[in-house]
Amino acid sequence: MTRATPASAEAGHPRIGLLGGSFDPVHVGHLALGQAAAEALQLDELIVIPTGESWQKARPDDPGQTAAAHRLAMVEIAIAPLVRSAARCRWSVDDLEIRRGGPTYTIDTLVALRARVGPAAALVLILGSDQFRNLPTWHRWQALTDYAHLAVTRREQISLADLPAPVERLLAERGRDALPDAAAGSVVTFRMPAVPVSATRLRIDLAAGRPVDELLPRGVADYVREHQLYQSGTMAR
Ligand code: ATP
Repeated sequence: MTRATPASAEAGHPRIGLLGGSFDPVHVGHLALGQAAAEALQLDELIVIPTGESWQKARPDDPGQTAAAHRLAMVEIAIAPLVRSAARCRWSVDDLEIRRGGPTYTIDTLVALRARVGPAAALVLILGSDQFRNLPTWHRWQALTDYAHLAVTRREQISLADLPAPVERLLAERGRDALPDAAAGSVVTFRMPAVPVSATRLRIDLAAGRPVDELLPRGVADYVREHQLYQSGTMAR
């Protein structure tokens, strides 16, 4: 199958998708999200970026995040077939947020990646609707579109209607029907099939010993077993 090449790629300016998350653990919903984005947005590259310390996810009753090395290893296993695939979109994983240490702020990641790729490449930050609704709680969220486009998709039953007022304003100012031939600055939406899975639910099911193998990408369930992750009362740190 041949695909239309986006004008930006023809002009030598690649379109690079960024899929961040804690991936604790990575699951089939994450891969479906990346694949839907690659197709809908005609991405040349997709970089999966596991968070370092997720400041938003630390709660007093939370046993803590799984060690970054394990989360990174699981993402590497999950995307290995996509990295090897001959499809136009090249997948990779980048541990820059883990290496940076301290709390993970997406804006710092975008600043670093913009410096790396230069001013012309299009950076596209991919977000599920849960993250998009939550955007105004992010550090320097209004600066995100200075460095990247935002591409948003509906995650299962989490609506893209009745958004919080600051997010509605962002959409009114920046919303476009399709990604323009520019490096950053727009907000677009795209569709993906609903994939009813969350890492929170998986952690609960794994701790309870319930079977979840079909919700984990190939090889990840074996990794979880081998390293005894997500067992009741423990978190591998
Ligand atoms: P948790 O349950 O621990 O909050 P999660 O399953 O939401 O984890 P994250 O690593 O926080 O996973 O998500 C990374 C990105 O993937 C976010 O943009 C999120 O909206 C998106 N995402 C996660 N699960 C799905 C899904 N089932 N369908 C579509 N997008 C998803």
